Amino acid sequence: MTTPKPVGRRLYESACQVIPGGVNSGTRYVGEPYSLAGAQGAYVTDADGARYLDYHAAFGAMLLGHNAPEVNGAVARSLDGVDLVGVGVGETEIEMARLVVELIPSAEMMIAAMSGSEATAQAIRLARAVTARPLIIKFQGCYHGWHDSVARNVISPAGRAYGRDPLSAGILDDALDSTLIAEFNDLGSVQALFEAHPERIAAVILEPIPHNVGALLPTQEFVEGLRSLTRKEGALLVFDEVITGFRHALGGYQQVCGVRPDLTSFGKAMGNGFPVAGLAGRRDLMERFDFDGGDVLLAGTFNGHPVSAAAAIATMTYLRDHPDFYTRTHTLGERMRLGLAGIADELGVAATVSGFGGVFVLYFASAPTLGYRDLLRNDNAAYLTFHRRMTDAGFLMLPMALKRNHVSGAHTEDDVERTLEAAHDVLKGMLA
Ligand code: PLP
Repeated sequence: MTTPKPVGRRLYESACQVIPGGVNSGTRYVGEPYSLAGAQGAYVTDADGARYLDYHAAFGAMLLGHNAPEVNGAVARSLDGVDLVGVGVGETEIEMARLVVELIPSAEMMIAAMSGSEATAQAIRLARAVTARPLIIKFQGCYHGWHDSVARNVISPAGRAYGRDPLSAGILDDALDSTLIAEFNDLGSVQALFEAHPERIAAVILEPIPHNVGALLPTQEFVEGLRSLTRKEGALLVFDEVITGFRHALGGYQQVCGVRPDLTSFGKAMGNGFPVAGLAGRRDLMERFDFDGGDVLLAGTFNGHPVSAAAAIATMTYLRDHPDFYTRTHTLGERMRLGLAGIADELGVAATVSGFGGVFVLYFASAPTLGYRDLLRNDNAAYLTFHRRMTDAGFLMLPMALKRNHVSGAHTEDDVERTLEAAHDVLKGMLA
């Protein structure tokens, strides 16, 4: 039973007076009027005083933990310098780009943005400019932001999967028709689209691990196949590493799988909770953004903001200088996955555990999940119940279909063990 949230309810009701739906991003409403009042390390506290161990991690934007002193200290120091001038370039912007180029294997140049959506919008426009082709391919289940080219076909019900499933009203038909939908881990579905639209496809964009539907793990054959197919067809390969970037490895998932995309978008964890994102890639492509000689517009009042850049530099530097960060979070993530699988097995729950690094997901489906088609078998109601009850028990897991959970640098072994004990009780209770 969810604990009443009188303060949260009051705040939510006042929010509804001035903010449509009472939240500033649709997925922040989780069926209960949560209002968070504090955050530190691996924990958050709500306005009604309840404390949660946080696996939501602001949709993956928190990586080192909340209010990480290394990042917040750098941000505080940046406030003593230049705020925003809007002329030329600042040292922190250069340092941020330099670090991205140093850390991300395929990055030769980088442009800054303030959100992942802007980064993927830039990637798509650049791909169209470079190839002079109109279409792009995205995968059912991947999310790349709220703009017209990609705001479709994420968590689609069976009847609309692979068909026309916009996330929003107000998207031009032309935009919807310019985005083709393929099946993740199915190279044949991509090949078929290239055959059906010869020399019309500018780019294939994907989350290398589609974390917006939990964690579909790509086969090596699939990512390598995409690389050679796009090359052969003259299209760009875009890795959207907005979630996987910096989280799964310093150089993102491209470092893990060894495949070099032409362009990479990143954001979220890069600034450990501060608004910063970017697009990186091959020099010859990125130079199209050059205001003097290029032809693709690069603009944005807040791009490379000193506060954002300070947060990004501090986060990237911390990760670079602490390689044990990945060993630790991956070990905790693995313990969580093995623990959950063991509990499901012991209790006879038809479930499959997935994830990578510190990310873990408990699908309520009994067979391996390779593509979106397999997720149509997931018992979404059970998934929601599990996440809701875990949250009620003090373990914040986003109560939304197919959302993933994140272990951060602030979680401990003890946290993981307590989480597993709670998961045992919750799953047992769900069987009763
Ligand atoms: N790409 C991926 C993989 C994402 O998960 C998201 C956001 O969830 C975005 C892009 C869009 O990023 P933003 O919400 O910062 O615009």
